[in-house]
Amino acid sequence: MVDIPNDHPRAESLRVRHAIIDGMHSKIVAEAGLIAHGRGEAYDYLIGEKTHDFAIDAIDAAAAMLYLAKHPVLSVNGNTAVLCPEDMIKFSNKTRIPLEINLFYRSDERMNAITEVMKKYNANLILGNNSEYYEEIDEISSLRRVVDKRGIYSADVVFVPLEDGDRTIGLKKNNKKVITVDLNPLSRTSQQADITIVDNIIRVFPLLLKSFDSIDGRSDAEAILSRYDNNKILKSAMEKITSYFKDKL
Ligand code: ATP
Repeated sequence: MVDIPNDHPRAESLRVRHAIIDGMHSKIVAEAGLIAHGRGEAYDYLIGEKTHDFAIDAIDAAAAMLYLAKHPVLSVNGNTAVLCPEDMIKFSNKTRIPLEINLFYRSDERMNAITEVMKKYNANLILGNNSEYYEEIDEISSLRRVVDKRGIYSADVVFVPLEDGDRTIGLKKNNKKVITVDLNPLSRTSQQADITIVDNIIRVFPLLLKSFDSIDGRSDAEAILSRYDNNKILKSAMEKITSYFKDKL
């Protein structure tokens, strides 16, 4: 691990960057995951590296959708396994929503490395790593089409952070509701998802848990969802990015 001085103005961002690099060396993160992280970092910079109201509204809607779902699943990739394993697993264990490992750059080595991370943080419900339960979703062309029949295959709501657009579109064609976390409000995933949380995944799970815990029954969750408009949220995120540039002019 590289020694990053605490007084460095971007110490936290550098620590996260090096955690991703270490994750690549231990085979949890794919090489392309480093590039995806860089794109996320750039957008985080443009929103001031903090959670805004448009993300809070999307988090509340996501909590409501997960609360109402018959069969929700949280999809896990290498970057999320490095960036927020503890908070993600705490959310899964407390809400009893299973975690499913689902990888674009799929290999047994990466599957095993991510499974080990999840065991280290005591995940109760891990799917996607047992070939006995594999099924394929025809609408997805990448290796991400291989899913767990107890998980994403039969899910009505899938939480897919840091996602590529093809998979989101495939899951939607397969009649699933999609919730994503994506710092880029312009990505195909952000534009296609039912709920887009434009925020850094590092900040999201504690807020999502708080919101989930505060839901006062099904009618409360239904009311939250009925008020929600994803296009409005995406527009607010883009306005925030635009205002960042305007303020600097
Ligand atoms: P699409 O196919 O949806 O247009 P893409 O080609 O950018 O998107 P990827 O590179 O697979 O797809 O996705 C990575 C996405 O995750 C990017 O949009 C990036 O902004 C976002 N991202 C990366 N790191 C984080 C993070 N820590 N928190 C939230 N989003 C992130």
